Amino acid sequence: ALAVVLVGNDPASQVYVRNKIKKTEAAGMRSVAYDLSETTTQEGLMHLIQQLNQDKAIHAILVQLPLPLHINSHEVICAIAPEKDVDGFHPVNVGLLSTGKSGVVPCTPLGIIKLLAGVCPDLTGMHAVVLGRSNIVGKPLVHLLSQANCTVSLLHSRTRDISSYVQQADILIVAVGKPAMVQADWIKPGAIIIDVGINRIILTDGTQKLVGDVDFAQVKNKAGAITPVPGGVGPMTIACLLENTLNLARKHCVTK
Ligand code: NDP
Repeated sequence: ALAVVLVGNDPASQVYVRNKIKKTEAAGMRSVAYDLSETTTQEGLMHLIQQLNQDKAIHAILVQLPLPLHINSHEVICAIAPEKDVDGFHPVNVGLLSTGKSGVVPCTPLGIIKLLAGVCPDLTGMHAVVLGRSNIVGKPLVHLLSQANCTVSLLHSRTRDISSYVQQADILIVAVGKPAMVQADWIKPGAIIIDVGINRIILTDGTQKLVGDVDFAQVKNKAGAITPVPGGVGPMTIACLLENTLNLARKHCVTK
């Protein structure tokens, strides 16, 4: 079973968690939801994680991020047993990924690698440009792309002349959180574009819409392949969460 821990009332997190639970159950796996109040203490949350670590019926633990500001997220992630860390955020799993050993790989980067494999089975020698250096997307991707024999550039908010790097990208992965940041004139014709961003914008008629970080309407005419938002990376993230859950449960059965 997958334990899903949500602390507080962040509407986006509530939607993500509900979706993850629904898909886990649709795939025939059990999930157990822990909805904790905004005022949950560090000690209370650490205690729950310890219980879940020891519970033999729980094979995978997911703590939805971001946590409320009074909680030390790093301490919480470190408390999850690495063999139940379904998101692959524990330093043990981060270390295994960075040294090319098998551990739990974070769901969004894993989903992106599967998407790339679908359009281009051999990435050897390609220049992959990753825009955004977060621990959950950009940094793990650098290791995975390098293991796939890409040459990798990791860009961030302090990078000078971002467009000059993007123009050289055979593969461009954007995980920044800024609507329509990447424009068509930045793109090398035929490049593979993976848009990770999820931004909620309000249209002139007052309705809301989800958009990515890439100007999809313009860029799609120049790209060799491009992922849409919504769709694309989001569903792959969930699919990889299910795969990671299943793999952790299988390992548990083997080692029991
Ligand atoms: P973070 O906020 O943790 O990281 C954003 C990154 O973008 C940072 O590295 C930051 O640089 C960089 N950045 C910010 N502004 C600029 C700029 N103007 N130019 C260049 N780089 C910039 O974000 P996440 O990685 O958590 O998420 C990124 C986006 O992806 C969000 O929209 C999020 O909702 C979405 N997301 C989608 C998922 C999915 O399943 N589809 C999963 C996870 C995230 P610096 O480090 O210098 O501050």
